[in-house]
Amino acid sequence: MAERISETLQKKLSSRLSFYEDLGIRLFYRDRGAVAEPDMERRLEPPDVAHHSTIELQKDETLPKPAGKPASQKTAPAVAPVSPKIASLPLAAGPSLFESVEKIAGDTLLKIREDLGECTRCKLHSTRNKIVFGDGNPKAELVFVGEGPGADEDAQGLPFVGRAGKLLTQMIEAMGLQRKDVYICNVVKCRPPENRQPEEDEVSTCSPFLLRQIDAIAPKVIVCLGAVAAKTLLQTNRGISQFRGEWLEFRGRKLLATYHPAYLLRNPAAKSEVWKDLQKVMAVLGLEVKKGKSS
Ligand code: URA
Repeated sequence: MAERISETLQKKLSSRLSFYEDLGIRLFYRDRGAVAEPDMERRLEPPDVAHHSTIELQKDETLPKPAGKPASQKTAPAVAPVSPKIASLPLAAGPSLFESVEKIAGDTLLKIREDLGECTRCKLHSTRNKIVFGDGNPKAELVFVGEGPGADEDAQGLPFVGRAGKLLTQMIEAMGLQRKDVYICNVVKCRPPENRQPEEDEVSTCSPFLLRQIDAIAPKVIVCLGAVAAKTLLQTNRGISQFRGEWLEFRGRKLLATYHPAYLLRNPAAKSEVWKDLQKVMAVLGLEVKKGKSS
């Protein structure tokens, strides 16, 4: 007789399975004895994802094991990291705001937070509840940069803790990592009212702090979540779909832009594109990308 699993595990399984389903991976409970019609199988498999999935469930009921060593560990990676080809993105006219900014020797997240203080440098301060500075491993190899805090983040003072944040957490876990292994922050540290996009003056006032955070952490890879982060760091006016998933450079570091989790909540079909992007990141970090059975 099948063993009963705990309610907590059932909940975890169900939320993990619905995430996989959003990614287009659905065939966990097929009758493995039955021979599936080949055409039907192909139709149910999203392009690429099923063949390079780290997240295929192992024996039906067990949660997938983390795919590799956490990025926080500076020990040898699970697989040899690949060196991607870096594309060069034609920049917007004018000098980059950032390339010429010198690194501050000995800078730390603590000093940056102190310098930010109870910031009143831009108008966002008047409507915010809490500054959302950033969260995670100060020595992370992987930094995610979002746009700006929403209502949940503003209430808690932590980045990506609302619905989009839950999706980001699932994405991080699907990479075989945990939130504490990576660093998560935003272009602006205070919530724009009504969740509007941050305005130019707000971005230019706040982004020097983001720049210092990135320099202090010195990650191997920066992932920009959405157009605002990508456009800010890359100083480009190009639409994100023109360079999404390409390796670019930011102050000598590898940068890849992908869709924002909030966009994925509205367009779940784009999740498989994001998963492909994250697999590229995993390859560069030396995190194991488990092959699907069919590959
Ligand atoms: N969206 C963002 O860009 N950042 C957050 O912290 C939350 C939602």
